[in-house]
Order: sequence, then structure tokens, then C-alpha cells
Amino acid sequence: MVEAAPSILSLQDKDISRRMQTIFKKKKVNIKTNVTIKKIIEAEGSIQAELENGDVLTAEKALISIGRTLNTENLGLEAVGVELGHRGQILVNDRMETNIRSIYAVGDVVMKYQLAHVASAQGIVAAENIMGKDLHQDYTGVPSCIFTSPEVASVGMTEQQAKETGIQVKTGKFNFMANGKASAWVREKAL
Ligand SMILES: Cc1cc2nc3c(=O)[nH]c(=O)nc-3n(C[C@H](O)[C@H](O)[C@H](O)COP(=O)(O)OP(=O)(O)OC[C@H]3O[C@@H](n4cnc5c(N)ncnc54)[C@H](O)[C@@H]3O)c2cc1C
Repeated sequence: MVEAAPSILSLQDKDISRRMQTIFKKKKVNIKTNVTIKKIIEAEGSIQAELENGDVLTAEKALISIGRTLNTENLGLEAVGVELGHRGQILVNDRMETNIRSIYAVGDVVMKYQLAHVASAQGIVAAENIMGKDLHQDYTGVPSCIFTSPEVASVGMTEQQAKETGIQVKTGKFNFMANGKASAWVREKAL
């Protein structure tokens, strides 16, 4: 696994990222962070990935999953004067309004959190505002889940983000394996 950022799952709490790195290593996943792939070539039935630090990785297959691109070109947005940001992001305020009155945008194209339930919540805010209400989108408690094994779930700020905003943080830890129900489920999955 090759990751350009200094750690895997870099948007998650550092503890989670470190823990998942250990779990992956136990599963014999070789993780390289802080490095990018320069090129991938096919050689004698295998794939060779050349990294920018000179390392070469050989594998049967390569899976590239490095994000999504927005599809906001050719919609005529520039023609009506809708302000676009980086990579074609549609810029909106917390009422989901663009700079052009009566044009709203929600979902991945506003590049806030690219999650289905966030798109849905933004849609409600936009629809209510279109109908004359004054709703403001609040992102303080966005839940998210990563479908690794074990799964990772989070909501709200990470510990680091809370500290950066000056909040005094207390952390509590509980080993999920000590929870009978969780343990039963994990074993059932392993069968
Ligand atoms: C592989 C993958 C896994 C994901 N897993 C999760 C997950 O587990 N949980 C989660 O919360 N989110 C997940 N997401 C993210 C989630 O799918 C998106 O955040 C969500 O679909 C965004 O909704 P949207 O309405 O903004 O965009 P979309 O769902 O992409 O809908 C946009 C629609 O607009 C249509 N369209 C595009 N251009 C035009 C046009 N010119 N005219 C008319 N129609 C047009 C498209 O065909 C599409 O149907 C995942 C995304 C991917 C790619």
C-alpha cells in the first residue's frame, strides 16, 4: 500500500491511524507512507510500480484509488457567473447558496465532506431555504465509517482538532475485544 500522506487514514484520529497501520502490518500488508508512485509498468505478467524514492514494487495487480474528480465542467456555470473554486468546486455559503441568488449546490460538488448522508443533509438545507426558510448547514457532528476489517467509525472532531481549537480534551479508551458482543461478532465473521 503506497500512501503519499505521512500516515494512512490521515484524516482520522492519530490513534486510529496508528492502530490500523499495525493491524494491516499483522495482515502482512506492506505499507509505505510519505511517498508517491512515479510510474507503473507491466512486465512479464506482473506489475511494477516505481516509487519516487527509487524503490520498485512488484505485484500481480495494481488498484489505484486516489480520490474523485468533480464533474462541473460544461454545465454553463461560468456563463451564469457561478463562482468556482479549486478543481471545479462549486463555492457555497452555509445556506448552500452560490454567489448567484437562486442557484444552490449540494453534495460532492461543494467539496465539504464527500459523503452520502452529508449530501442528503445539505439537500434538505437547500430545499428549505429555497422555500423561504433560513437554515444553516452545521458540520460539527458529521459521522463517517471506513469499511476496513475491523471497521473504523468516527463523529465530530478528532482529538488533535479539538486541541488545536483550545478545547481541553479527555480521552477514554476501551478495548473492543473485551466486549463480549463485539468479540462474538468478530469470531463469527472469522468463521
Ligand atoms: C466507491 C465509493 C464508495 C463510497 N462509499 C460511501 C459510503 O460508504 N458512505 C458514504 O456516505 N458515502 C460514500 N461514498 C460517497 C457518496 O457516494 C457521495 O458522497 C454521494 O453519492 C454524493 O452525492 P451527490 O448527490 O453529490 O453526487 P452523486 O451521487 O454522484 O450524484 C450526482 C448525479 O448527477 C448526475 N449527473 C452528473 N452530471 C449531470 C448533468 N450534467 N446533468 C444531469 N445529471 C448529471 C450523475 O449521473 C449522478 O447520478 C462513496 C463514493 C464512492 C465513489
